[in-house]
Amino acid sequence: MPLDLRVGDIVKLKKKHPCGGYHWEISRTGIDIGLRCLCCGRKVLVPRVKVERNIKLIIKKD
Ligand SMILES: [Zn+2]
Repeated sequence: MPLDLRVGDIVKLKKKHPCGGYHWEISRTGIDIGLRCLCCGRKVLVPRVKVERNIKLIIKKD
């Protein structure tokens, strides 16, 4: 079952970004998920399946 990911949600990933951050804000959803690193502000586009495997925690927008 696909995870319920929405724009504005914050996800904590298992693997850390080279900058040292684990938290990302979702900026886009679809086949690819747009993520913005909350630590360095960098934006990436990652295939949804890859993101889902890497998620440790979802922090909902509200
Ligand atoms: Zn970063």
